[in-house]
Amino acid sequence: MKLKDKVVAITGAGQGLGRAMAVHLAKEGARIAVIDLNQEHMDETKRQVEAAGSSARTYLCNVANEEQVEQTFAAIASDMGGLHGLINNAGILRDGLMVKAKDGEVKKMTLAQWQMVIDVNLTGVFLCGREAAVQMINGGEGGCIINISSIARAGNFGQTNYSAAKAGVAAMAVTWAKELARYGIRANAIAPGFIATEMTASMPPEALEKICKGIPANRMGTPDEIADAAVFLLANDYMSGRIVEVDGGLRL
Ligand code: NAD
Repeated sequence: MKLKDKVVAITGAGQGLGRAMAVHLAKEGARIAVIDLNQEHMDETKRQVEAAGSSARTYLCNVANEEQVEQTFAAIASDMGGLHGLINNAGILRDGLMVKAKDGEVKKMTLAQWQMVIDVNLTGVFLCGREAAVQMINGGEGGCIINISSIARAGNFGQTNYSAAKAGVAAMAVTWAKELARYGIRANAIAPGFIATEMTASMPPEALEKICKGIPANRMGTPDEIADAAVFLLANDYMSGRIVEVDGGLRL
């Protein structure tokens, strides 16, 4: 796909990886639909997209809310004259052990802790992917969807909820590549390792230091390195149904 003047929606683009991908795609000439819960952060992303030489519109939307997602994707197609790309990037962490026995007491991951992550990181990806596909089919020009998975999809300590969701979005990308090919729509996933964003900055420093020691590249990745992979997947018309791992060689 030639990215010049194409419309790409990015969820969770108010900061972190989403913002880096928005700016990278803007440099290639793509117009960006910025989706997030935080208007101020989205305004800053829009400013950076414009500074990179393109244009953006912002859409306040909770990706876990069906009605909001339906309205948002219909509005993007009508405001921006179509939809060619979607990056399902919005995500949250609510880490904890499934059960933890300490001092004679067994603590549990709560159902709310499980459900919150599933709602945003799994159901949100389904809803946005579905609505984006509808708009891409109506537009008749094909398209490309990228789900942001994670190295944690293999199963990670303290992340029952997150790992389950990230395995799910990787599987959805493969499923959509098969189902949507007939409409000229490709789907892929990116599984980042540990990348320096606000999300990882919220992790305990001791845990981060320990993780970095185990990364063959000997450092965390940068948001720009993930954005490079997103540009590649959108641009290359023979990439579909694959999970691209960008993790400095780390294996969990
Ligand atoms: P981040 O926390 O910095 O940014 C996430 C963005 O998503 C925020 O702007 C937030 O407002 C938005 N968001 C959260 N819930 C939302 C909702 N319900 N609706 C709309 N927007 C919502 O995170 P990040 O590090 O940039 O991560 C982006 C994605 O990459 C996430 O899916 C994350 O799981 C994944 N990921 C990150 C890393 C990493 O090391 N940073 C590694 C692997 C995967």
